[in-house]
Amino acid sequence: MNLSRFPRIRLAHLPTPLEPLIRLSEELGGPEIWIKRDDCTGLSTGGNKTRKLEFLMAEAQNQGADTVMTQGAIQSNHVRQTSAFAAKLGIKCHVLLEDRTGYTDDNYNHNGNVFIDLLHGATYEKRGPGLDMNAEMESVAEKLREGGANVYTIPGGGSNSTGALGYVDCAFEILHQANEMGLVIDHIVHATGSAGTQAGLISGLKAMNVNIPLLGISVRAPKEEQEENVYNLAIDTTAKLGCPSVVNRDDIVANSDYVGEGYGLPTEAGIEAITMFAELEGILLDPVYSSKGASGLIDLIRKGRFKKSDRVVFIHTGGSASLFGYTKHFDFGDRA
Ligand SMILES: *Cc1c(COP(=O)(O)O)cnc(C)c1O
Repeated sequence: MNLSRFPRIRLAHLPTPLEPLIRLSEELGGPEIWIKRDDCTGLSTGGNKTRKLEFLMAEAQNQGADTVMTQGAIQSNHVRQTSAFAAKLGIKCHVLLEDRTGYTDDNYNHNGNVFIDLLHGATYEKRGPGLDMNAEMESVAEKLREGGANVYTIPGGGSNSTGALGYVDCAFEILHQANEMGLVIDHIVHATGSAGTQAGLISGLKAMNVNIPLLGISVRAPKEEQEENVYNLAIDTTAKLGCPSVVNRDDIVANSDYVGEGYGLPTEAGIEAITMFAELEGILLDPVYSSKGASGLIDLIRKGRFKKSDRVVFIHTGGSASLFGYTKHFDFGDRA
């Protein structure tokens, strides 16, 4: 399959490392856990959106956009990476930030990703919860267009068939690395939200006829709804790639047992996962996505879901910048 026929601005630091997590694997008594470091994609503290934006921003540039718009939660990693990418291209970035948590503290509302969005020169408007945020964004974009701007809009999470190409490429990258090292991968696990990561990965894996089970740990939607979202996007993505019908509905597996009280609301198990990765491996997870993904991985390991001899790859999708928006959720006892 020929990804190079799609316009792309090569900005990410690729390939990201694929490394063993020796102390974490020992602590849990197996399986062998590996990590794909997509927190290290290089753009303004990194993360999974950079791969998607390589394709999305190329489309923006080809359309002559002078402004890019997107939307997300207040502590959105996608918004941060979009604002950084726009800075790199010298175009304006205007975003809508949705209050999904109701948190009123200063760190949540102004530190972490919000602080970095502003550093990159982005402007933002806030919105209350429960709106159709993509529709809100389109109506703001229309107003900007009436004022003469050439606006390219990116859906939440960069999750359309263009953005998902970034994770088709990541599937190729993982397989290539595994082939080079002689690593037999038995499972791949990652956090799933707006669905582009999982849809791209499954499209890439199935297009290569690689049948490694892929498990998305949901950070928001219930299992059925999440799987439908991923499936629908995988259909669009494989159609774009010219290999429709390689993905079946039962290739899409999500687990929504680790969402907790809702999107962006940290869980106890997620905080435990952050602590374990930080203290055992020197790796920073985030409270919204990668920690919930990792908490699912850890819990499923403890429940015996994987064989001790399995090799499980956890894709670290990034997000550590939002830790600074969530400091109130951490208690360091008498060490602090
Ligand atoms: C956006 C995001 C995800 C989820 O990826 P989707 O493609 O939206 O499903 C996971 N982890 C982090 C850190 C993210 O920012």
